[in-house]
Amino acid sequence: MCGIAGIVSVRNISDRLLRSIKNLEYRGYDSCGVAILTKDRIEIRKEVGTVEEVDRKEKLAEPQGFLGISHTRWATHGKVTQINSHPHLSCDGTIAVVHNGIISNYRALKDELIQIGHRFVSETDTEVISHLIEEYYQVEGDIEKSLIKAFQLLEGTYAFALISTREPDKIFCARRESPLVLGVGSDSMFVGSDINAFVEFTKDIVILEDGEYAIITANSYSIKDGSTGSQIQRKVQTINWSAEVAQKGGYPHFMLKEIHEQPDVVKTVLNLDTRDIQKLAEMIHESERTYLVGVGTTYYVALAGQYYFSKIVGCYLPAVSSDEFEYVAEVNPNTLFLCASQSGETYDTLKALRYAKKKGSKTAAIVNVIGSSVAREVNHAIMQSSGPEICVLSTKAALAQIVILLRTALELARLKGHISEQTFSEYMKQLELLPQMIRQILDEKTGNIRNIAYRRAQIKNWLFLGRGIYMAVAMEAALKMKEVTYQHAEGMPGGFMKHGTIALIDDDTYTLVLVPPREEDDLYHQTMSNVEEIKARKGFIVGFHHGKSDSIFDEEVVLPDAPPLIAPLLQLVVGQLFAYFSAVALKRNVDKPRSLAKSVTVA
Ligand code: GLU
Repeated sequence: MCGIAGIVSVRNISDRLLRSIKNLEYRGYDSCGVAILTKDRIEIRKEVGTVEEVDRKEKLAEPQGFLGISHTRWATHGKVTQINSHPHLSCDGTIAVVHNGIISNYRALKDELIQIGHRFVSETDTEVISHLIEEYYQVEGDIEKSLIKAFQLLEGTYAFALISTREPDKIFCARRESPLVLGVGSDSMFVGSDINAFVEFTKDIVILEDGEYAIITANSYSIKDGSTGSQIQRKVQTINWSAEVAQKGGYPHFMLKEIHEQPDVVKTVLNLDTRDIQKLAEMIHESERTYLVGVGTTYYVALAGQYYFSKIVGCYLPAVSSDEFEYVAEVNPNTLFLCASQSGETYDTLKALRYAKKKGSKTAAIVNVIGSSVAREVNHAIMQSSGPEICVLSTKAALAQIVILLRTALELARLKGHISEQTFSEYMKQLELLPQMIRQILDEKTGNIRNIAYRRAQIKNWLFLGRGIYMAVAMEAALKMKEVTYQHAEGMPGGFMKHGTIALIDDDTYTLVLVPPREEDDLYHQTMSNVEEIKARKGFIVGFHHGKSDSIFDEEVVLPDAPPLIAPLLQLVVGQLFAYFSAVALKRNVDKPRSLAKSVTVA
C-alpha cells in the first residue's frame, strides 16, 4: 500500500503535487518521487527517504508544469533504492507511471517484454506497466486504447496513474481492488489513492470503482469500464472532512481504519505470487521439523498457523514464542525456523532467528517491511504487503500473516498429496469468500458489537475461551483487549476450565466464548459444554457464534454461517472490534496505548 497522487491544471502544479505526497506519507514512507511534464519531456525526481528528506535533496517542486504525478512508496517488489522508487518510465521516456499494490503476473510479462527488446532498470513489478503501454502504443497510437489492453492483461491488486508526452494534457489512471479517488477543482483535476492527496485543494470527489479507469484533464473527468471501454456516469460528492479526519480515511482512529482495510489486505494476500508460497511449502516439506515462531500477536499468529497445519495437512508444526525459543527448541540443519514479524525488527524474533541460524537451521519469514533485518537475514522471505500499520496494535498485519500460513498449509497439503486437486480448489474458493465475509461484519448496521462493548466496558476481568484454533483467536482477542483497554482479559483453552479455572466462576465473572460453527461437531459440542458449566454457576457469558440466536448467552454476536476454514478469522475480526469499541467507551488512547511501542526492538 503506497500513496499515489496526480494533478492536472491550468496553472503550475509542482507545489501542490509536493503537498499531496506529504499528505499521503502515512501510506508508505520508504522513498518517494514526482514526474512532471515540463514542455515536451517528463522530468523525474525521486530518492529514498521521507518526503521532507527527499525534497531537501532533490527539490521536488523545482520542475514547473501543468501536469504531474507523485508517489510515496511502501516497497513490495525490489529493495528500497532510488532506482526502484516511483515514478517509472518507459524505454523512450515518454510514459511515466506511479503504482500502488502488486502486479501478480509481472514476472511473466517482464520476461516477454525483455524478449521483445524492452530494457528494465528497476526490480519492481510496477515497471511492466510503462513498458507494456509503450509496447501497445506502437500499434494503437493512442494511450487510452493501449491502457485498456494493458489493464486487461495486468493481474493482481493495484491502482496506477500515468502520464505521457504523447497526450500532454491528460492523466490516465485505473484501479483493480486498490482504491483510487478523483478530486474535482475549479481549474484543476486531481487523482489520489485517497482524498488526503487533495483534500487541501478540493472537497468535491468522485470515487472510482473496481475495474474502472479514468482520464482527467484540467477541466474534465471521464470514467470508463475497464473491460468494455464504455462511459460511466458518476456524480461528484462533496465531503466535509477535516485534514485530520481525512488522514484516517474518515475513521476516528487508525485502529478502526486498519480493521476496515482487512478485506483489501486479504485480497492482496490471495494475490501474492503462488510460487513464493509454494517455495515455503517445499521448505517445510524438506525439513524434519518446522517451528512457527513469533512473539506477542505474532505468537498467536503462529499458534493459529499450528492449528491450520494440523487440520489441513495433518502435520504438527509447533508454535513457539520467540523469547522462549532458545530454551525449548531443538535446532539443527534439518529444521526450519519460520517466523512472522510485522516490522521485521522485533528484537526477540531476531534473536531467536540468529540463534537458529547459528545452529545451522534453514530460515523463512513472513514480514511486512521489505529490507528489514528479518527479511534480509532469512533464506526465504514472504512480503505480506499489508501497507503500514499506524496504530500500535496490530490488526490487519496479523490477519494477513495468518492467511499466508493458511495458504502455505494448503500448498503443503497439495504437495504431500494429502488433499486432492479438487479439495485444494474447494478450499481456495472458501478462502476467496473471506474478504466479502469480513466486509459483511464490518458493514453490519445495528452496531451490535459496539453496543455490547459499550454496555460491558467497565468489566475489569475477562476470561476469553476457545478450543482448537479458536483458542489461538481467544488469546489474540484477549491480548487486543489488554493492550487497548488496560482491562484484564485472559485467553485460554476451554479445556482448562474444569482443571482449575472453573473455581473462579460465580455471578460476578465474565466470560467471552468463541463458538465454532455447528459443522465442527466435536469442537462445537465441547465448547458448548463449557458454556453450560459456566451458566450452571451463574457466570455471565458473551458468545461469538454462527447461525442463529441462542438464548443461553447473556450477550451474543451472531455471525453468518461460514466454512470452518475461515470462521475463526471472522471471529478474530469481531474480537478486534470488541476491543476497539471497549477502549473507545473507556476513552483510552486507542492508537497509542500507554507503555506500548509499535515494534519492540529492545531486550
Ligand atoms: N509493488 C510496488 C513496489 O514495490 C508498489 C508498492 C506499494 O504499493 O507500496 O514498488
